[in-house]
Amino acid sequence: GCSENYRPNKVLQVATEPTFPPFEFQGQGGELEGFSIDLMRAIATAANFQIEFQSLPFDGIIPALQAKTIDGAISSMTITAERAKTVAFSRPYFKAGLAIAIRTDNQNIKGFNSLQNKKIAVQMGTTGAQKAKSVIGAEVRSFDSAPLALQELQNGNVDAVINDAPASLYAINTGNLQGIKIIQQLLTEEFYGIATARNSPYLSLINLGLSKILKNGNYQQIYQKWFKS
Ligand code: GLN
Repeated sequence: GCSENYRPNKVLQVATEPTFPPFEFQGQGGELEGFSIDLMRAIATAANFQIEFQSLPFDGIIPALQAKTIDGAISSMTITAERAKTVAFSRPYFKAGLAIAIRTDNQNIKGFNSLQNKKIAVQMGTTGAQKAKSVIGAEVRSFDSAPLALQELQNGNVDAVINDAPASLYAINTGNLQGIKIIQQLLTEEFYGIATARNSPYLSLINLGLSKILKNGNYQQIYQKWFKS
């Protein structure tokens, strides 16, 4: 089922964990918003299929894909070799990377090596959580969402947060976080992909839509809307 004429005979259920602005989050009235939401809708329109979003915890997304209770997921999920053993990824749609966030008055944390024996907050199930686990002597505190981890840093309960740089920067730049800075040097280079079950009939359709919007300028418009103010 990978020809241009293939149509799913149902509305695809697409999962997202909507606490990650500006990628996926809930607006004032609870409606889903963000770069990934606009992107997924544009992909569906371009490849002529229908979607419905479902909110799931981030660490519930891969199990739900494997159980096929959802058809796809767009949730700023980094394409990793580990995850690719259990799910399939679309072509990359966004370049990100992990950054260390600290309080602006912190003079002693200058990079990854200075995190040893420190308290680090992370969002559970993420690449940031993985990275934090590799720090010698660190006390890692896991939270359900990135904003909760960042809040813990703002409150002075941890020394640092390891999180995707664009998400932490957005929280700082919008004033949602006060007194927080990120260390410019990124810890990793990561690429986000849309995930499906392995051997999903929908993956080629998602890639088709993604290729179309990269070509027709729609991707660029959506990028401008969320990242160039
Ligand atoms: N990109 C990170 C990961 O894939 C974080 C994603 C997220 O918090 N939504 O683990």
